[in-house]
Amino acid sequence: MKIIAFSDNKAILSQIISRFRDEAEVHAITPDPDFILKYGASKTFGLKGDVLSGPVSKAIEKMYQSGGYDLIAIGSTVTGREVAGLLSAMLSTQAVSEVNSLSFNGGKATTSRFFYGGKSLLTEESVAKIAVVAPGLAEATESSKKSDITELQLEPSSVKIVSRTDKKGGSVDIEKAQVIVSVGRGLGKKENLEKVEPFAKAVHGEIAGSRPVCLDYGWLSEDRQVGLSGKKVQPKLYIALGISGQIQHIAGMRNSKVVIAVNKDKSAPIFEEADYGIVGDLFDVIGKIKDKLAQ
Ligand SMILES: Cc1cc2nc3c(=O)[nH]c(=O)nc-3n(C[C@H](O)[C@H](O)[C@H](O)COP(=O)(O)OP(=O)(O)OC[C@H]3O[C@@H](n4cnc5c(N)ncnc54)[C@H](O)[C@@H]3O)c2cc1C
Repeated sequence: MKIIAFSDNKAILSQIISRFRDEAEVHAITPDPDFILKYGASKTFGLKGDVLSGPVSKAIEKMYQSGGYDLIAIGSTVTGREVAGLLSAMLSTQAVSEVNSLSFNGGKATTSRFFYGGKSLLTEESVAKIAVVAPGLAEATESSKKSDITELQLEPSSVKIVSRTDKKGGSVDIEKAQVIVSVGRGLGKKENLEKVEPFAKAVHGEIAGSRPVCLDYGWLSEDRQVGLSGKKVQPKLYIALGISGQIQHIAGMRNSKVVIAVNKDKSAPIFEEADYGIVGDLFDVIGKIKDKLAQ
């Protein structure tokens, strides 16, 4: 089996390579070849030029047309999803999106992905030749398998980059945090973070949040989002404040060792995931815990 693997996100690409390197010849295409090399792809192609969806899809198309490839696995990023759409049209082939498990047998791809907003898992067998892979396909592990880096010059794009601005990020990597204080829409408004911060400090925790808090309202930076489309965390202690506990949030925190949930609705689904559940107003509860810790 022969696979083209591309992502402009090195973490996702290293997961795709780790998943397939023992059963397939993986040709990895990346803007970060020095980093990717250690994951043991059969061939590593280092992109030269602006990594934009147009030129990248043309480069992948050319490689695929050279023959013998069974599958194109693309990391699910903004660029990756665009590349998959373009390639699907260019190659007149089916693409399957947001897969979190992927196997390939006898010309058919078996993929699993969340459906109905994450409430069910859909497993399909198809003739799709392009799979857009969500983060977390496999654990990225280094390999002793060696390959050389081949330079892959991208064609100039019709799109001109006018400027680049770094995304405002948090100062911590919540995936490594031992204690996380995670806030949901129950926080009410951004200003209320000031009430949660002293509590997080008292329990030596890092602040994270649900998708509405990080993405929709921007109360926290996006890199603090926990969940299916956010970070997968596994702290020793996860304190969920005003989070209802939808499946997409649970997908990011279910490996936490101990979970404490505070919610004013006693039927909130988060309590099914919690080791300790407290029904009440989150501001009252964190105030009381903080006072107790100070004694
Ligand atoms: C494809 C897809 C991907 C997604 N990915 C993610 C993801 O990565 N992460 C994520 O979090 N979500 C994700 N979502 C969104 C998810 O479905 C939920 O909408 C979201 O998790 C809800 O966030 P929440 O719990 O903060 O808000 P809500 O569901 O509105 O819950 C707020 C909770 O706060 C409680 N509350 C209100 N006031 C107080 C108070 N004063 N004290 C105590 N409790 C209070 C309420 O009882 C309620 O239970 C995704 C959805 C889709 C479709």
